[in-house]
Amino acid sequence: MNLIYKSTRNDHETATASQAILKGLANNSGLFVPTEIPKLDVTVEELATMSYQEVAYEVMKLFFTDFTEEELKYCIDHAYDDKFDTSEIVPIVKVGDAYHLQLFHGSTIAFKDMALSILPYLLVTAAKKNDVKNEIVILTATSGDTGKAALAGFADVPGTKIIVFYPKDGVSPIQEKQMVTQKGDNTYVIGIKGNFDDAQTGVKKMFSDAELAEEMDAAGYQFSSANSINIGRLVPQIVYYVYSYAKLAADHTITDGNPMNVVVPTGNFGNILAAYYAKQMGIPIKKLICASNENKVLFDFFQTGTYDKNREFILTSSPSMDILISSNLERLIHKTAGSSAEKCAQLMQNLSEEGKYTITDEMKANLEDFVGVYATEEETAAVIKRVYEQTGYVMDTHTAVAAHGYYAYLEETKDQTPAVIASTASPFKFTRSVMNAIDPAYDSQTDFELVDELSRISGTVVPNAIEEIRTAPVLHDTVCAKDEMLAEVKKILGI
Ligand SMILES: *Cc1c(COP(=O)(O)O)cnc(C)c1O
Repeated sequence: MNLIYKSTRNDHETATASQAILKGLANNSGLFVPTEIPKLDVTVEELATMSYQEVAYEVMKLFFTDFTEEELKYCIDHAYDDKFDTSEIVPIVKVGDAYHLQLFHGSTIAFKDMALSILPYLLVTAAKKNDVKNEIVILTATSGDTGKAALAGFADVPGTKIIVFYPKDGVSPIQEKQMVTQKGDNTYVIGIKGNFDDAQTGVKKMFSDAELAEEMDAAGYQFSSANSINIGRLVPQIVYYVYSYAKLAADHTITDGNPMNVVVPTGNFGNILAAYYAKQMGIPIKKLICASNENKVLFDFFQTGTYDKNREFILTSSPSMDILISSNLERLIHKTAGSSAEKCAQLMQNLSEEGKYTITDEMKANLEDFVGVYATEEETAAVIKRVYEQTGYVMDTHTAVAAHGYYAYLEETKDQTPAVIASTASPFKFTRSVMNAIDPAYDSQTDFELVDELSRISGTVVPNAIEEIRTAPVLHDTVCAKDEMLAEVKKILGI
């Protein structure tokens, strides 16, 4: 029987997995959620002997029920291949008292690769399944990281093209270099003379341009989006929590079905929601520790039951978590409201009209698996320095937010449950902040001097993703005005 997905804002809008992946977002900005979370049908002992790819199949087959075994295995094997610099895909490393789940061994050395490596294959398969004959054109505006991860994921995937717009003067030099050196005959990267909002607005306009859609259809193209609330990005993330539990059981860190805790540096709430789904599938997880940086909307929400985005937006050293609206939280709200689309839609309306909402005590009682923690900028830097001095291990700023949160939780609760910290980026991606945390004197060095120094002090080799951009030729040099975005897209598609 097929698992059905429905909108968090309308009980009557349903979709199969492949339809939900193709559509991305439900109507009226609702998100697709599975009508039930399937239970794993293999034992932990069995999972413990499996490769990452095999575990991925066991999880995805239960969510993507309208994909055949052959299709899913094709998607999985093409996603988790030698794009990753280790055959383990996600190594687990013991650092001090915690287990770091390294989600940064893919092409862009950050955890968005886990989902964006497989999404293109899921999307193309879903298109075939639903008799979509057109080539899929992914159109994205990026402030840096997602653009590169999407480019790397879609590069040379048959049946797709990807066009990324970024603010020419609004991304870091390393981020820009990463994008403009992207290989792949189907990749297009364009700088715009404007800021991220201009890029975003231009992209949204094209998505809703009916005339353009018609012209594209006639030429055999249609748009799709790789945005972070696609169920095709969420489900692949469940895998690494199932996998890590099985690995900790395999090496007897965990015995007799005892639980683990997970600690997740959180922004849009996708990663930690995946851990919550892993728990619903039957993986023994005791606490889901949700770590925020100084933009601590989620910490306050778990304390008080009020989500309030009316506050100053703070730029921190963990920029991928600088978020005031955590989109994926809507899926948890829907669930804690007893899967009532009506209640969920009401709260989301409050959020868009007043910038805040408050859940009922009854709903709050359903959140007891979650613990909110947060780290200030000083605390984030301090934990990087301390862990480095005590163990020689260097972590990135996002992981450090989680590590600080975990140690604060440990001190308060003395909870000895083995803890897995989701390590979401390589320290080489945020070299300057990381090195400054260890010693402010490093700040006078250039980016690549710091890269070499980090490699030396941590005893780890410089990842390919960084090594490549030292010398890689620039392959994309188009720059356009913000009102020329449409013309650029037409030029690319030859329409
Ligand atoms: C996106 C991102 C996060 C936040 O993950 P969410 O799923 O949005 O909560 C944390 N760390 C890094 C490095 C990221 O890129």
